[in-house]
Amino acid sequence: MQDLEQNYNLLGTLSPSATLSISAKAKKLKAQGVDVVSMTAGEPDFDTPQVIKNACIKAIQEGKVRYLASSGLPELKTEIVKKFAQNGIDTKSENIVISTGAKFAIFQAITCLCGEGDEVILLAPFWLSYKEMIKASGAKAVIVQTSMENNYSPTRRDLEAVITENTKLIIVNSPNNPTGAVYSRETLQMIADIAIEHNIMVLSDEIYEKLIYDEKIKHISIASLSPQIADLTITVNGFSKAYAMTGWRLGYLTAPIWLTKRIAALQSHATSNATSFVQYAAVSALRGEADEDVSKMIEAFAKRRRLICNLLSMIKNIKFFVPQGAFYVLCDVSQIGLSGDEFAEQILEKEDLAVIPCTAFGEPSAIRLSYACSENEIVEAMKRLKIFCDK
Ligand code: PMP
Ligand code: GLU
Repeated sequence: MQDLEQNYNLLGTLSPSATLSISAKAKKLKAQGVDVVSMTAGEPDFDTPQVIKNACIKAIQEGKVRYLASSGLPELKTEIVKKFAQNGIDTKSENIVISTGAKFAIFQAITCLCGEGDEVILLAPFWLSYKEMIKASGAKAVIVQTSMENNYSPTRRDLEAVITENTKLIIVNSPNNPTGAVYSRETLQMIADIAIEHNIMVLSDEIYEKLIYDEKIKHISIASLSPQIADLTITVNGFSKAYAMTGWRLGYLTAPIWLTKRIAALQSHATSNATSFVQYAAVSALRGEADEDVSKMIEAFAKRRRLICNLLSMIKNIKFFVPQGAFYVLCDVSQIGLSGDEFAEQILEKEDLAVIPCTAFGEPSAIRLSYACSENEIVEAMKRLKIFCDK
């Protein structure tokens, strides 16, 4: 008899997403009436801009409810090509795949590119899903630790130390989840030089591109640095963070054509097209119709960032990194004498404050605070954090 629970497939061995499960736990406690303050969510607390909603409603009313070309709506691809051109990336519609969320775009890129015997360089701390996606592909994640002191950016020496003949891909995520670091041009140029020299692909996850709060710091797409690095780069972006559209599930990528073809084939069997009317709505977002709302959200995040950093600086024994982008603050809690996991568990139990422990992000001594919540919630959360740390 077959042992039905025996699993021979890597896809059946993944760990559930800790960010999603802890966020869900906090939401459940709130629904039960517990006065939980949650700094878990990796999603803007703003509503999707009305113009985008209107474009979606219009698309539904006009009957845009059928299957589309699996890799995406041609009008949206045209807008994506223009959007990438603004980033200095020269691409074409045939290089684009539009997916149900940047997450699935990344999943498909990694699994179509990498397999057993390949190595993927992951810069810690990293967004937890990359590691599981690498595992799903059969490749090995090779972790390179970065440090707060070095702007959570890798050095040439760090990277060169781990490159082997099997290195296939390096994942770059700037602005970064969970650190909020934005890589400098020099860092990106160094990564590009190494990728070109060793013939390594780069996956650049630019989903937090619009969320940068320091005027002196600009987002740079690594693929814009030269035609050679563009030929080796998969650039991913999406609508979740910039347009407060997490629930709509829409993301996209551009890749060299040989890889785009593989990804498009996988998607044609896995999901077919991303939801049709959502893609029509996204055209309106990329045409800039919601730009005013987007600017207001960025201003609000900038204000919250200042607030949370001011309040955090008054708390003893927490070492934190002042983020340049995204909406997270990474806090090292090792001086408290607890691991990130213990800290998160105990503060939820004792002070009803939900935070993300960063073990799954490759940083076990840290927690991540998301400031995608109201200023009142930030003030209350920092009060609770201070009480917990003072104890
Ligand atoms: N990349 C990073 C770094 C993220 O934090 C997220 C969070 N959701 C994603 C990709 C995926 O975004 P989505 O699937 O919502 O487009
Ligand atoms: N990316 C967000 C986060 O890190 C949302 C949850 C997820 O998809 O992991 O919290």
